[in-house]
Amino acid sequence: MALIVHKYGGTSMGSPERIRSVAQRVAKWVRAGHQLVVVPSAMSGETNRLLGLAKELMPDASQAASAEARRELDAIAATGEQVSVGLLALALQAQGVPAVSYAGWQVPIETDSSHTKARITRIDDQRIRSDLAAGRVVIVTGFQGVDPQGHVTTLGRGGSDTSAVAVAAALQAAECLIYTDVDGVYTTDPRIVPEARRLHSISFEEMLEMASMGSKVLQIRSVEFAGKYRVPTRVLSSFTPWDIPLAEEAVSGTLITFEEDEKMEQAVVAGIAFNRDEAKITVAGVPDKPGIAFQILGPVADANIDIDVIIQNMSHDGRTDFSFTVHRNDYVKTMDVLKTRVLPTLGARDVLGDAKICKVSIVGIGMRSHVGVAARMFRTLSEEGINIQMITTSEIKTSVVIDEKYMELAVRALHKAFELEQPSEGALAAG
Ligand code: ADP
Ligand code: ASP
Ligand code: MG
Repeated sequence: MALIVHKYGGTSMGSPERIRSVAQRVAKWVRAGHQLVVVPSAMSGETNRLLGLAKELMPDASQAASAEARRELDAIAATGEQVSVGLLALALQAQGVPAVSYAGWQVPIETDSSHTKARITRIDDQRIRSDLAAGRVVIVTGFQGVDPQGHVTTLGRGGSDTSAVAVAAALQAAECLIYTDVDGVYTTDPRIVPEARRLHSISFEEMLEMASMGSKVLQIRSVEFAGKYRVPTRVLSSFTPWDIPLAEEAVSGTLITFEEDEKMEQAVVAGIAFNRDEAKITVAGVPDKPGIAFQILGPVADANIDIDVIIQNMSHDGRTDFSFTVHRNDYVKTMDVLKTRVLPTLGARDVLGDAKICKVSIVGIGMRSHVGVAARMFRTLSEEGINIQMITTSEIKTSVVIDEKYMELAVRALHKAFELEQPSEGALAAG
């Protein structure tokens, strides 16, 4: 008998039929003798619908809105998960499986107070454990928590993954199974590249990089939790028939691995990630003197805006251009901070913004020991006539910022250039 956490995403919970199928699958695991904690998302489209309603009443309601407005956005968005936990508990009870649902605040799942992007700080496992001991399936809302003042918070879009892995960590669960609408982690989003190949396993570091570079299959903070607490985490399909043998289901999908097996033949590039969520801002004609980066980015950071790629150009005649990217939700706010708080004191010429960019990244542990990977990336893009606006690298990834309209072309061309559709001989090949 093991304690297992299941997470079901929006599509997996998308209709009463789908919820019934989830309940049947969960019941199968219970019958096999396991203790189950289930973390569902809101039904598909529901979070968008709720936030759409909010926008009708406050058009600029987003992550960049005031703290008061973001508090209400969380109160609104959190209701989606509140409905799905109740429905799933009912579906289980209807099948004769004892089940109880909890909202984040009832567990409680404690978070900080950063509304719309809160971080989990602590999870009290007492209530869950006593229900499990009483033979109940415990269903906990994904995506939401409660801050020290008792306000409902949410963890950012896709946050149910993080709720699930964090609950698994707190309970020291044997495994966290992330059920979704694809049957695992692919070399890139299979919706963009149909030839993408499912990975049998992916190293934690690669998964972290893929998620942080935009692969929405897992929210990045869920991968961080998995790594920090060594939670065995697997991504698998909720669309297989619920009654497939449990032994088969338990080894399907993609496992995140923590040990690098030296004997494994690693593909140089494990996958390609992309994201359209950023905007580029250039402060032009900045006097090139010490302290400039701090003068520009300090006020941006003070406004609680995260910065991603940064480049500073060579200076000409003592002046330089300084560019960086931020999340698109923060674009207007960043432009505002720069125009009101930075430009007047800095003596720069202008602030220019471009929200029609995307970032494409190649990720792979094998890049550590192979030279020329980035060069191949740049050559491939140049052969497609795609101009690179920014480049950033780390040990295991290279990212480029390009015009948004070339995103799909770039991803497909790179997928081909790195032969990702070919099963590699080693352990990364799909089984
Ligand atoms: P859920 O609602 O289950 O959380 P998401 O839509 O958040 O599902 O994540 C699953 C989606 O992630 C897939 O449908 C797929 O389009 C997308 N995706 C992006 N990159 C990848 C990848 N490398 N492998 C698999 N899926 C990916
Ligand atoms: N329902 C939330 C969202 O749509 C959380 C999640 O699905 O993980 O972002
Ligand atoms: Mg998701």
